[in-house]
Amino acid sequence: MFTPAPRATKIVATLGPASSDPAVLERMLRAGVDVVRVNFSHGTADEHTRIVNLVRETAQRIGRGVGVLADLQGPKIRVGKFADGKVELVDGDRFTFDIDCELGDQGRVGLDYPELVNDVKAGDTLLLNDGRMMMKVDRVTATTIECTVTQGGTLSNRKGINRQGGGLSAPALTSKDMEDIKTAVAFKADFIAVSFPKNAADMYMARELVRAAGGKALMIAKIERYEAIGNLEEILKASDCIMVARGDLAVEVGDAAVPALQKRMIRMAKELNRVTITATQMMESMIEAPVPTRAEVSDVANAVLDGTDAVMLSAETAAGKYPVETIEAMARVCVEADRSEIVSFDAAFLHRTFSRIDQSIAMSALFVAHHMKVKAVVSLTESGSTALWMSRLDSGVPIYALTPLESSRRRMCLYREVHPLLMNYHAQEREALLLEAEQKLLEAGIVEKGDLIVLTIGEPIGKSGGTNTLKIVRVGEHH
Ligand code: PGA
Ligand code: MN
Repeated sequence: MFTPAPRATKIVATLGPASSDPAVLERMLRAGVDVVRVNFSHGTADEHTRIVNLVRETAQRIGRGVGVLADLQGPKIRVGKFADGKVELVDGDRFTFDIDCELGDQGRVGLDYPELVNDVKAGDTLLLNDGRMMMKVDRVTATTIECTVTQGGTLSNRKGINRQGGGLSAPALTSKDMEDIKTAVAFKADFIAVSFPKNAADMYMARELVRAAGGKALMIAKIERYEAIGNLEEILKASDCIMVARGDLAVEVGDAAVPALQKRMIRMAKELNRVTITATQMMESMIEAPVPTRAEVSDVANAVLDGTDAVMLSAETAAGKYPVETIEAMARVCVEADRSEIVSFDAAFLHRTFSRIDQSIAMSALFVAHHMKVKAVVSLTESGSTALWMSRLDSGVPIYALTPLESSRRRMCLYREVHPLLMNYHAQEREALLLEAEQKLLEAGIVEKGDLIVLTIGEPIGKSGGTNTLKIVRVGEHH
């Protein structure tokens, strides 16, 4: 029997009105969602908690592990709401942002960040809705920003505003974010994303708040500010993951700079043992259409070839007409791109030096996997750190991570090429435990008798971060 290697690249899907129906959500998870993103820019704490509970119940019922990513709004400056939900603006229209406006109309709208009036001046360019619309600032008063529309379009409720060239003074964590962190910790988010961090200090502060609230979530820095590019290395070191947040980033640095930055960020993240999500407009046309454009197919495939851990869907699954079809299309493109390159370890791998024992075992397992053409690498891991080390290098061999901890299983959902499985460790002793692992893989149809696999394990059993043993076995023959 030929079992194709499972999809290596992970899919993050944003939840919203289009995905809150339980039947649709179930189909989305079955179609291959690995991590759901709960967007705190929209909705209430109760709504978020309810949908997360539904995701977990559904995942449990269909036997899948699904991670939960809570995305904080951050100081994203957004317009308020309109009486009719949206307005059409054309070039030359006069339009005013008014901090006292409750419900907007054709001539004005409110702001969720009143301080914007202090950060802009006449002559500035404001971009709206991820740069789809543009306005020139004519005059600023204590409560209003008066503009002329230079590129028209539809402006709807709570769309974002950026100032061209960056430079807004807003801190990365607002008082709303601090409240939302408590909500995210309460529903046990596996990942918490910080919007618009400028530097490492913003990430340390966010992590501090999460820990103070009792949360263990991995911290994601969304790279979407001009200032963050210069501080990329320190931000990476202060985070567990980064998101290439192309929507706001393109507005701040210019759209043409983004593709090369995407490659640089992914490469740098890997070298520093960090995880990457590539996000925004990946399948944008599927908000309205049942098939992607050729350019979108290429964009997703290129992110995979750049080595991203995960690709993300935003409005496509939150508010689009075809949430399930979008995930199916994305999964299909990922599978093809995952296996399209012949993996060859570069000389740099051979010259890398390791100081940690678990990292050395992880790298040795990959070395063996590469040279002995094994079917799978199998890691018995408590925290998932061994699987993370392994997945930072592209070996082309699937990594099955067996963990007794539901929280570790869910965070490994984001790691490229890692397939987490829940396994209660019954045996107290190494050989018996390895047999249990082998049995688990056989039952799941992942390996069959005669397959060559590499296993890693830590002794003494049950100590986190203690991987120190590697064993190469032919399934069914090692005792
Ligand atoms: P957002 O972040 O969807 O929360 O704005 C992603 C991006 O800016 O690309
Ligand atoms: Mn953004």
